[in-house]
Formats: sequence, C-alpha cells, structure tokens
Amino acid sequence: MTQEIRVRFAPSPTGPFHIGGARSALFNWLLARKLGGKMVLRIEDTDRKRSTPESEENIKAALKWLGMDWDEGVDVGGPYGPYHQMERLDIYKKFTDQLLAEGKAYYCYCTPEELEAERQALLKEGKMPRYMGKCRNLTPEQRAQYEAEGRKPSIRLKVPADEKIVVHDLVRGDVEFDSNGIGDFVIVKSDGIPTYNYAVVIDDHLMHITHVIRAEEHLSNTPRQLLVYEALGFEKPVFGHISLILGPDHTKMSKRHGATSVDAYRQKGYIPEGLDNFLALLGWAPSGEKEIFTMDEAIKEFSLEHVAKNPAIFDFKKLDWINGQHIRRMTPEKFFELAKPFMIQAGYMTGDETGEKLEWLKKVIATAQTQVDYGAQIPEKVAMYFSDDFDFENEEAAAVLKEETVPLVLRSLKAELEALPALDHDAVKGCFKKVQKGNKLKGQQVYMPVRVALTGNQHGPELAEMIPLMGLERVEKRIAKSLAKAGIGL
Ligand code: GLU
Repeated sequence: MTQEIRVRFAPSPTGPFHIGGARSALFNWLLARKLGGKMVLRIEDTDRKRSTPESEENIKAALKWLGMDWDEGVDVGGPYGPYHQMERLDIYKKFTDQLLAEGKAYYCYCTPEELEAERQALLKEGKMPRYMGKCRNLTPEQRAQYEAEGRKPSIRLKVPADEKIVVHDLVRGDVEFDSNGIGDFVIVKSDGIPTYNYAVVIDDHLMHITHVIRAEEHLSNTPRQLLVYEALGFEKPVFGHISLILGPDHTKMSKRHGATSVDAYRQKGYIPEGLDNFLALLGWAPSGEKEIFTMDEAIKEFSLEHVAKNPAIFDFKKLDWINGQHIRRMTPEKFFELAKPFMIQAGYMTGDETGEKLEWLKKVIATAQTQVDYGAQIPEKVAMYFSDDFDFENEEAAAVLKEETVPLVLRSLKAELEALPALDHDAVKGCFKKVQKGNKLKGQQVYMPVRVALTGNQHGPELAEMIPLMGLERVEKRIAKSLAKAGIGL
C-alpha cells in the first residue's frame, strides 16, 4: 500500500487572514483532495501577545467560505490532537526533557540585553549575528548561580558546526544552508512556551504529516527545523515552498497594493469560486490555456510538479476578470443573494420586500449580472432604476443629444410608449422599430440618443429590457432632465 498523503495548514491566528495564507491552504487542500489524502488544520497559537480567538474564528470562517474543509484539526478533532499548540505544551515538554537528557539541548541564561550586546558586537565585526554558545557548557555551579539570581532560562538546541544542511524542496530543488550561519537557537522560551521552529516539527511528526507545503517566507526556517528532526530522530516529511506573492510592481505584496485579507475581498463582493480560481493561479496553472475553472476541475489537474518557482504576481485586473467570469456563471438566485447586502447598503432595498416589488427587484438586479466583476459594483449599475440623479459620462455622450434628429426621436418614442397598454420587452422593441421606420432613421440614430437621455452613458443594458423596468414615469423624467441639461426643448 502506498503511504497516505497527509498535509496540514497551520496558521498563526494573529490578525486578518491574508490571501497568501489562503493560497497556502488551497495548495494543501488541492493536493489532499487530488490524492485522496487528509487535510489537517492546526492552530499555531504560541505567540501569546498576538494570537486572538477572533482571528482563529476569522480564519476558519474564511476557509469554509472558500470551500476548503479539513478532515482533522480544530473543531473537527482527530486521532492526533489536540490541534491548538497551546494545548500541547506537555507534549513538547516530553521531547525537550529528552533532548536535555541527551545533551542535545541546554539551558541558556543570557538576558535580552546580553544577547543584544553580542549581536551588536558581531555586526560590528561584519559577522552574521547569531548565538555564540555562551551557555553551552555551563557547570552545575554556574547554573545554580544564575538560578539564584532569579534568571529564567530558555532552552537552546545544540547546532553542529560546519554542516551543510540541504532542504530537498519539491518546488525549488535542493537548497543548501550552512549550519555555521545558524547558531544554537532557542527551542523553548523562558516562559516555557516552545518556538515555532521547534513545535512545528513535533506536531508535523506526531500528526504524521507527509508533505509540508507552505510559503517561501518559511524556507529560511526549514534548516532549523531539519536540525530538530535530526536531534529528535524523526523521519522528515517532503517540503515544498511556494513562491512569494508580489504586487503588480514586483515588490512584496502588501496593503500598499490593495486589500490583502480574504475578508476584504468577501466584503467587496468577490465570490469564493472567483477568488479560489485566482488564488490557484498564483503559482500554479492547469495544462493548456484554460484560465477559468472550478475547484473540482482544479482538483483533477493539480500537481506540485506544476507549481512554479518564480514569484506569483497579484494582478488585480486579472482577479476582477476571473471573478466576473464566475459571476456570469452564477444562478440568478445566487446573484440576487450576492447583490442584496450591497443593495441594502445603497438604500435601494430593505431586504423585506415581497410580492411585485420583490419580483421587480429581482429583474433589476439580474440586469447587472453580465456587467459587474464583484458585488460592490452592483448598485451603480442599477442606480438608474432608483434615482433620477445622473450626469453625462463625458463630452462625447452629451454631444449625442445635440444631433438634429434627437427631438424628433424622443418625441416620437414618448408618444409610442405612452400609447402602449403595458410596457414589456417586445412592445418596447416594437416602439423603437416604429420610431426608426416611421422617421426613416438608422438604428444608431434612435438607440444612442435614447440611451444617453436615459442613462447619461453610451453603453448599458438593452433598452427594451431597461425601459419596462424603469417605468414610464421615470423614463419621461429622465428624458426631460437630460434635455434640459443639454439645453434642448422637445
Ligand atoms: N504558523 C506558521 C505561519 O502561520 C506556519 C508555517 C508553516 O506552515 O510551517 O506562518
């Protein structure tokens, strides 16, 4: 039997859930689903100052919203729990005791001030700052002396000198590090809490993780982790460090470039299908040209061999385009649900509408589905059904109304519309035909001024669709307003 693939996503709940984190989670999830493996969600909450329960909830909610589930971990449990690191302190302690007993780790009593002084001294000599091993060989008397002074020790791992440490990375190939650049590092802080590089190894080992897939930012941590694997005699997992995400200007993606949290995109009305598709393309691509795909399609094709080594560029325009493509694929019901909060916020609906009003709202909202890339754009696309406040989009649009035939077109259309028993798509279309034929005009000469007079824009939804939704009263008001603005009488 081949070994079961077990991956994990191990976020630190220290702030808004970053899209980079979501991308790491997604690659792990795709791999697990592709290979019939298990996905573990572990919460790395050892940073006591910065970890919050709200952040953890936010991460879990965002993962669920993006459609990523986990087979083991926080909330769902599993055979290798607990899945919060702060609930595993006794587990780490067992291994620490073992390392101390074997002489592979030692107590360090240096104060932060002493460590800083050492750092500065090394920097001055042009050397790489690292711990030089002052407490490596303390005698029992020296230790007792420090203890008597009330110093609280941290625990450091003894790092062997002159060793080449090679990370065999699935994405980046072999990456070499020199143990001399590392120095004995802290595995347990003076408050008894393990450091990331230490706890992560014990957890990945005990949770039987086979593949550690995480962001490139962690590559420099990996040699330290390999040293811990060695010291504890654990078998190593496979590593894969996925590329940095850069902003459009090729510097590290940050708030300067735009929103970086999953929540910000959710709040702007991006949809999970769109964001997932976009995130998947940050470092991976299915074979062929296909850029729009569902997660089921991505699962079928995903492989770490096709994860690129070069940095992924966060292209906001591409995100909008991809999201727009997925919006087109939504059912009208889902699109309506997406629109609702934005429409309520714009004051265009209350959310309590029923009957005819609700049916009308549904039709109005449906007109935006082909026009928007994300939910927050919906109100502006339907504003014309709710208010008569608008401007010409530009000089060119205003100029359309100056054409000689415009008063005739608008006057005849008004008369035709007023003569209808009811406004519906086909009847309105019929009116346009009559106006055009009756006055021997070209289509453009009719449609364009009507469009501009009604919306101020030269582009928009089909007029025969728009006019029945707008209603005769508003149509007439808007025409009058445009003409007044353009200084034309009918
Ligand atoms: N807690 C670490 C982070 O959020 C996990 C890194 C890892 O996957 O090993 O960055």
